[in-house]
Amino acid sequence: MKRILIVGGGPAGYVAAGRAAQLGAAVTLVETREIGGTCLNRGCIPTKALIAGAERLRQVRDASAFGIRTGEVEFDFAAFMDRKERVTSMLRDGVDHLLKARKVEVITGWARLSGAHTLALSDGRELHGDAIIIATGSEPVRLGLFDWSDPRIMTSDEALRIESVPETLAIVGGGAIGCEFASLFATLGTEVFVIEMMSQLIPGEGMRASKTLQQAFKRTGIDVSLAVRVESAAPEGEDIALHLDNGRVISAARVLVAVGRRPLTSDAGLTDTGVRLDERGYVVTDRTLRTSVADVFAAGDVTGPPMLAHWAYHQGVIAAENAVTGASRMLDERVVPSVAFSVPEVASCGMSEERAATENVPITIAHVRLNSNSKAVIEGNADGFVRIVCEAESGRILGASVLGPHAAELIHELALATHAGLTLESLAGTIHAHPTLSEAIGEAANAALGHGIHSL
Ligand code: NAD
Repeated sequence: MKRILIVGGGPAGYVAAGRAAQLGAAVTLVETREIGGTCLNRGCIPTKALIAGAERLRQVRDASAFGIRTGEVEFDFAAFMDRKERVTSMLRDGVDHLLKARKVEVITGWARLSGAHTLALSDGRELHGDAIIIATGSEPVRLGLFDWSDPRIMTSDEALRIESVPETLAIVGGGAIGCEFASLFATLGTEVFVIEMMSQLIPGEGMRASKTLQQAFKRTGIDVSLAVRVESAAPEGEDIALHLDNGRVISAARVLVAVGRRPLTSDAGLTDTGVRLDERGYVVTDRTLRTSVADVFAAGDVTGPPMLAHWAYHQGVIAAENAVTGASRMLDERVVPSVAFSVPEVASCGMSEERAATENVPITIAHVRLNSNSKAVIEGNADGFVRIVCEAESGRILGASVLGPHAAELIHELALATHAGLTLESLAGTIHAHPTLSEAIGEAANAALGHGIHSL
């Protein structure tokens, strides 16, 4: 029986453990904190639990448009945060249970790679395995220009433990984390400022989605500064004053720094054992997730962007299969959906228009606005679009972008279409149930083929 050792119990590590156990390996996973890593404890799950609460609040506040009189709506922030803890712990218990059921040995402690087949544990033990998977994850970047001893300066880790709703919040970084927290706190009544150094929000997204999000932020009252950097930050009474390089000064009670994440590789024995890191500190792997040391694999954020839980799941599976069987299954990076749970939601998959232009790929675009979609109008939320990128000659779907209600769910029909190499005809010919948001996908395809009925 193969013995597999895994360092890190986040989405890459625990999925690798589950898959290796399914394949008949004896698996030991070493984790220094709680099982679930960033995603479950400090990322996807707690943020989306808070966002779900904010969405409920927005619905109740907007209920009068549906003829519902609620009176004054109040919310209890402590209960709001408490629910997030309950959701998180319920899902964490679920992962614990799955690992137990698959007979994965979980050791709480710190592990250092001490050889190609050995881990030295903080309690003095040494573990031997046929293969080792490094899945130590990442942590938020703490820019040096901030005084991190000041509790008013936060990363997403601290923002998830905030004890009250701040009156004002400056968010440095308009990526996925910045935009999700901006929407969340704006809904809770905070005056929000977003400061982004690039010329668009969520720079990885297509320009149209970024611009539409920016307009929606403006309508919500979120103040967005693009193409600016923070030069310095200094306490100013109760506030922190951020001096921007365009001369503007933004003062806020709290500052959230969301400028990306960095790999967690220190004191893990990696370079001492010969595991190569790149110039940014990420573990270098090939597409089978093998590192520069035979039988040592890596998966998840520690291998670099995209730092997404679902990408880490995929990597965990590939690393485990290759580690247990000796095979060389490769990563499939063609269609990794990306979603920001901002208001509105932004989602994309596959090739963007911008990338097609850079790579000189001739494309056509299928586009429909959600205001032509009856379900979106019924729901009272019809701002947004479905936009599909197709290969010009064949009509083959190369990628897509969706902005608006439930974009995070809608993107998956398009991800499947992209993954399967389907054409616009396949989408147009698929009968979509009425009235649904998904009809917008069929309508976009029909419109591009010249026979859209519900849009002009
Ligand atoms: P990010 O890299 O997505 O965004 C950081 C942003 O900060 C970028 O737009 C960058 O241009 C900007 N920036 C960097 N330095 C700056 C500076 N000095 N001043 C102003 N702006 C600056 O990183 P993130 O939003 O911190 O998220 C971290 C990781 O977590 C990302 O890989 C992200 O994809 C992932 N994540 C995913 C989701 C999701 O899938 N829904 C949600 C949150 C985070």
